Amino acid sequence: MLTDTMAARVLIVGAAGSGNCLLQEGLAADHFEVAGARDEQTAVRLAHSWKPDLIVLNAVLPGTEPYETCRRLKHDPRTLHIPVALITRHAEALQRLDELQSSPDDFLSSPVEHTQLLARVRNMVRLKRTLDEWRDRAPDARGSGDGDTSVSGARAVIIDPSDAACAMVRRALAQDGIEVSRAASATDVLTQSEADPADLVVIGLAAGPADPLALPARLRATPATRAIPMLLVADPDHRSRILRGFDLGANDWLLRPVDEQELRVRARNQIRRKFDQDRWRADLGEAVELALTDPLTGLYNRRYLLRHLRRLLGSSHAHEVAVLMVDIDHFKAINDRFGHAAGDEALRLVAGTLRRRTRVFDSVARVGGEEFVVVMPGASPSDARAAAERLRLAIEAIPFHPAPPVRHRLTVSIGVAATGLAACAGNAEVLIRHADRALYAAKDAGRNRVEFAQAA
Ligand code: GH3
Ligand code: MG
Ligand code: MG
Repeated sequence: MLTDTMAARVLIVGAAGSGNCLLQEGLAADHFEVAGARDEQTAVRLAHSWKPDLIVLNAVLPGTEPYETCRRLKHDPRTLHIPVALITRHAEALQRLDELQSSPDDFLSSPVEHTQLLARVRNMVRLKRTLDEWRDRAPDARGSGDGDTSVSGARAVIIDPSDAACAMVRRALAQDGIEVSRAASATDVLTQSEADPADLVVIGLAAGPADPLALPARLRATPATRAIPMLLVADPDHRSRILRGFDLGANDWLLRPVDEQELRVRARNQIRRKFDQDRWRADLGEAVELALTDPLTGLYNRRYLLRHLRRLLGSSHAHEVAVLMVDIDHFKAINDRFGHAAGDEALRLVAGTLRRRTRVFDSVARVGGEEFVVVMPGASPSDARAAAERLRLAIEAIPFHPAPPVRHRLTVSIGVAATGLAACAGNAEVLIRHADRALYAAKDAGRNRVEFAQAA
């Protein structure tokens, strides 16, 4: 299991070659621990002993049998819970996928684009962490892996202004027994879901006056639709929208022109994942999830964060740890000017940016109304300063349009405390108190800035 003091581990399987080297370097630069395996035997051995959080199978290079490797990993009780991503040239791989009984959790087309790789890798590692937490709490629960992978009878909803696009999705998904209905608006989806929640929502992002990403935001904010996976369909030049869609809670995306096979594979993956999670919830009760996470943003909550920080500081091989206390500036004015829903969207956007711009093994929590904490294991004071400044700038750049086309610039003040600073040694409470004081100093000094904890 991934403990929070470790970097997330990624095992890359494929023959030696520049493609894999680039992947390894790219992920290592983003603070992943990376290992390579050049054949199936090594891959399986490392999967058992090194316990990666994600396995990337590179099918592009000759001399590997990634499909077979995937099948083996997914049928081995010791490894079936590790997510597997397959890198492939589309058409050929998808044909093989259809023949497989256990497909990978995600796949990427070659050549791999770095930002997309990272977004997907983070998604998978996070999902695994959540499942690990659950498994930890209830080792006897059925959870995933009971072998039932059929999605027949599932219900999908599509929102897309194009009739042709809707017809295509309906036709493609019907082949897997998925029934597709069309919704005209977000309100439509919400109304339908109150009576009978769908298992998947497909959202066609169109260029247009209305903000198409308002929909994912609303679906995530509403209890009846919170657990439904969302698949975005977008034009290749809308990458920034896709990433923002991820921040707002979308689960996967597809680029136009849509490859029907790819659509089917991604839809099936998402629906299976939801069925898995439904089973976990049925076994453990929603209480487990609610005890750890903040429903509005999906981030960890205060309770989890304190527990986590105490554990980090208490462990015998304690690293340096930095704590960033982040508070949105003049947040009340957003609610007052644009309404509470806009305020909620701002919270989700800031949450998404914090999550996306931190390392996988950093933890981000929402600890109060518009207050967040980032815990960074292994970070020196200067690492923490650089990270805080990077986050401050990223938040300032968020395209937040609470009343389109009006843009509101979101800014945050950040207080930093780190065990590497003499004044901050001690327990979790001391560290948090110092970060909090530094935050107030940042507010006093004019906001939209980073301040360090000082000796009292
Ligand atoms: P400062 O720059 O000093 O931090 O000012 P501020 O307005 O951000 O801080 P203040 O503490 O005065 O206001 C925080 C506001 O956050 C007040 C409350 O209405 C709002 N708030 C708290 N929780 C939520 C929430 O879940 N959703 C929304 N929309 N607003 C919230
Ligand atoms: Mg504030
Ligand atoms: Mg506040």
